[in-house]
Formats: sequence, structure tokens, C-alpha cells
Amino acid sequence: MFLSGKRALVTGSTSGIGLAVARALAAEGAEVVLNGFGEESAIAKLCDELGARHVGADLTTAEGCDALMDAAGPIDVLVNNAGMQHVAPVEEFPVEKWDAIIALNLSAAFHTARRAVPHMKAKGWGRIVNTASAHSKTASPFKSAYIAAKHGLDGLTKTLALELAQSGVTANCISPGYVWTPLVENQIPDTMKARSLTREQVMNDVLLAKQPTKRFVQPEEIGALAVFLCREEAGNVTGANWSIDGGWTAE
Ligand code: NAD
Repeated sequence: MFLSGKRALVTGSTSGIGLAVARALAAEGAEVVLNGFGEESAIAKLCDELGARHVGADLTTAEGCDALMDAAGPIDVLVNNAGMQHVAPVEEFPVEKWDAIIALNLSAAFHTARRAVPHMKAKGWGRIVNTASAHSKTASPFKSAYIAAKHGLDGLTKTLALELAQSGVTANCISPGYVWTPLVENQIPDTMKARSLTREQVMNDVLLAKQPTKRFVQPEEIGALAVFLCREEAGNVTGANWSIDGGWTAE
């Protein structure tokens, strides 16, 4: 239980990858703060399961991020994971979707980090883990906002790593390929429309076509990598962008 006595905030942890990371950190003794949307009773159940608190702030605004950080208190492990997707050709891409995706997938990580870093520096220990994506390293059509935001998140992470290099605080990205979560499932209808394909064609010819292992990544595999990045043995791992993408970005 090497995270006993440490507080971990995982944004977007009511579902998918964030929930798996929250479970993995809680299993190592961290006091977890959950964030994200969902049904009240389901969230209450998760809080019971993990001995966690939930702060339901909307992270698409600086004010929402500040409200989260105010309610969470000092943070030792910050996992910026909340994210959303929209699939459309650039000339049809709704401006409000662009703004929301940049705000949540990129700017929120800046706002939480700027609030978390002073405490981490004062303690001489901290971990920032940002859920980026294979799309932080490579592009695909029809995902302009998401890919711009994830490339930006990689840049922010490297900058944090350099600024914090001598303070005991590390900053890294985890970059999954396709993980079977609601975020992936929900983009299937729009991808069918944008590419004129059936559901099966989207699954096999668009999604898994990218992934040489031909398997979706499991959320628990990402939880295990996040736990490793929090270990003392990972103290010299900083500014890295860890692929967990079944070989996608090796091609
Ligand atoms: P998900 O849809 O299952 O979970 C998203 C989480 O973010 C939920 O808890 C949701 O309530 C929360 N959220 C959404 N809007 C929010 C807002 N405005 N403020 C606060 N919280 C908000 O998605 P997921 O697949 O688990 O994705 C998690 C992260 O992983 C995202 O950053 C995503 O880009 C990244 N990612 C996912 C995949 C994949 O294949 N699923 C691949 C690469 C990267």
C-alpha cells in the first residue's frame, strides 16, 4: 500500500479509464477524489466501494477547475483524464465542440496542475499523470479538436516535467490506443456517418485496423501503468509519453 497517506485526484473517473485508474490507486492505499458526471446513486456506490469523495465539477471552464481544486484540497497524485471526443470533417466541425474539447482535454490539465503544483513542490513529492492518446503522437481524419488537444497535452506534460525536474515531482503522459469505454462506443455512429460505413466496418476497419494486436486495450492495463508511474522506482521517469496502444504508433 505504497500510496497510503497520499491523496489522488482523478478527473473524469466516474467511467472508463479514469475509474480503472482510481480503482488501481485506491488499491494501493491512496485517498481518492473522484470527478465526473453520472447518476447520483451509481456515484455514491463508487464512493462507498473506493472509500472516495466525489466532486462533480464541470472542467470545461477555469472556474469549474478551481471549484474542483478548492473542494479536493492538497493533491499528491493528479491524474488529468477527463476528456471528450467529436468526429466531423473540419469544415463542418461545430465551433462550440472545438472550444469544449480544447477546454476539457487540454486547458483543464493546465488549470488543475497550476493549482496542484505548489503543494507538491512544498512536499518534495508529487505525480502528475495525464491521459493523452495515441492521437497525441499521430493523427486520423475527422478528429481535429481532439488531436490538437492531445498533442498540446503532450507538450504541456513535457514542460511540467522540465519545470519540476528537481522538485521530486514527475509529469508523464499515458497514451492509449483504442480502449473499450463509452467514449469509443459513442463515436461509432458519427464515424459510420462521416465515412459511410457499417458498425462492424468501423470496429474492424477503422478502430482495430490501427492496432496491430487486434485487441482493445483494457482500462485495467492503464490503471497498472498509472500505479507504476507513482512508484518511487519511477522517480526518474518524467516528461515521457507512454504508449499502451497494441503497437499502433510503432508503425
Ligand atoms: P469515458 O467517456 O468513459 O469517460 C470520460 C469521463 O470524463 C467520465 O467520467 C465523464 O463523466 C467525464 N467528463 C466528461 N465531460 C466532463 C466535464 N466537462 N467535466 C468533468 N468530467 C467530465 O471516456 P474514456 O474512454 O474513459 O476516456 C478517458 C480519457 O482517456 C479521455 O481523456 C480520452 O481522451 C482518453 N482516451 C481514451 C481512449 C479510448 O479508446 N477510450 C483512447 C485514448 C485516450
